[in-house]
Amino acid sequence: MNRLVKLFSVLGIIIIGACSKDEQTSGPDYNITYDLHIAGGTIVDGSGEASFAGDILVSGDKIAYVGAVNASKIQANQTIDATGKVVSPGFIDAHSHGDPLQANNDLLRNFLRQGITTVVLGQDGTNPGYFPSDGPERDLGSFSKWIERVNQQGTGPNVATLVGHGTIRRLSGGGEKDRVTSEEQVKMEQLLIDAMKAGAYGLNTGLEYVPGRYADAEEMAGLAMVVGANDGLISSHVRNEDDDIVHQSIAELLEQGKYARVNASHIKVVYGKTRAQGDAVLKQLRDARAEGIQVTADVYPYLASFGDMSYLYPEWAKREGEFNDAAINRREEFEEFLRAKIIRRNGPGAILISNGEYSGKTLAEIVAITGKTPEAQIIDLDIMARQPPISL
Ligand SMILES: [Zn+2]
Repeated sequence: MNRLVKLFSVLGIIIIGACSKDEQTSGPDYNITYDLHIAGGTIVDGSGEASFAGDILVSGDKIAYVGAVNASKIQANQTIDATGKVVSPGFIDAHSHGDPLQANNDLLRNFLRQGITTVVLGQDGTNPGYFPSDGPERDLGSFSKWIERVNQQGTGPNVATLVGHGTIRRLSGGGEKDRVTSEEQVKMEQLLIDAMKAGAYGLNTGLEYVPGRYADAEEMAGLAMVVGANDGLISSHVRNEDDDIVHQSIAELLEQGKYARVNASHIKVVYGKTRAQGDAVLKQLRDARAEGIQVTADVYPYLASFGDMSYLYPEWAKREGEFNDAAINRREEFEEFLRAKIIRRNGPGAILISNGEYSGKTLAEIVAITGKTPEAQIIDLDIMARQPPISL
């Protein structure tokens, strides 16, 4: 089997489209000139098998041969000496954010520089192509228009996309309602079908965020049936990852797993203190698999999580209108809630702000400059981040 070749050298690792010694039926052809010869590397082929020493020969955009060669007889236009290096397939980032159509995103080539050759977009309940607040330039209004334009323009890495549940909930008119109407449900399901026909791989939910958090079991089951009927995947930022609730959230995902393949995004136990808590979540997944549910999980390769400020907020300050009301009329109570939450999340030194004026500084560093309390600072930063900023 030959696959597309994308070649990068990243931190001593040479990344190539795909390579496996099992794919070889015969030796290299010493009578032709290959375009590329990657010589003397340690090949990790991504199959889970042990690494092996070997060379890789490429013709055009195809891997022509993987394995042992008589190097003195090989003819190639270009040779890369991979001695002392690992040669591996490109990495797939199962949880990526970004939009190749956004002007300053350089076609998402930043991923290539990390050795990532495939990104999965449409995460945490939102898919690119629907940004009404950014105006008509970026709000294409439908998945098929977005993907058509991406195909015309091209991207750095390969792009796979899921449909954001929050996106179709908004497009259907369900918005931030506590419960969608049956007409809105039908519309959501149709938007999902249309997007999957246009090339989406399934649905992504952000059930901890607005508006995903307002979806109930019935709404999710209807969508899960559509995904299953179209042979897709549901990947989910589950409803709540806190140590005392995460099991319920996984159970909710497994319920959808009765209809379609499911994946728990960036699985973790927030506030978890023991290894046993993590083991219990993994056991829950293994038990479900043993019962026939097709469930998988992915995980961050670092000890942090990233989200918007609303993570920290009480239920009554999550929606935009609720935040505005809380920031103005319930300020003291809001700050008190936040104070406790910040402490529980290991204090202001453990919260790093990633955009705006204080990008790259921790909350502790910011309040040392402004003289505000951490809780007041969080609210004020969020007020400034809203478009337009709300006025008090
Ligand atoms: Zn997430």
